[in-house]
Amino acid sequence: MSYRIGQGIDFHQLVEGREFWLGGVLIPHSKGALGHSDADVLLHAICDAMLGALCLGDIGHHFPDTDQRYKGIDSKLLLKKCYELITTRNYAIVNIDATILLQAPKIKPHILRMQEAIAGVLCLSIDDVSVKATTTEHMSFIGREEGIVATANVLLKKGE
Ligand SMILES: [Zn+2]
Repeated sequence: MSYRIGQGIDFHQLVEGREFWLGGVLIPHSKGALGHSDADVLLHAICDAMLGALCLGDIGHHFPDTDQRYKGIDSKLLLKKCYELITTRNYAIVNIDATILLQAPKIKPHILRMQEAIAGVLCLSIDDVSVKATTTEHMSFIGREEGIVATANVLLKKGE
């Protein structure tokens, strides 16, 4: 059995006047992440971890922010495309472990829906999609609510 591990990290600014998409879920908040797509930092980190596990480059390589096709795109579609890149190479996801770093709002009430959204796209059980969140105790750009970061680790297993 062949296993591959990948990690991903993503950063976005938080600004007023944007919808706040996180983990495939719309979060009620006064600010949202700035980006070419819907700027879903958690899904982008998971995409990068999946691509990294198979040495396929990064999300910017596959979905350049200069490409108008990806303007405002739902990042669940990017996640699905990354999943197809994995499955066409005969790999399946074993599990995902992700952490969101942000000061506000409280993310805990939304975590189950994020797990369901991600598991739905990737044909996983929610027990295989760990989503955690932490603040930075008011330190740095995250603590000042200027930005949001997500990291993800993904384990892939090759089919028989
Ligand atoms: Zn991103």
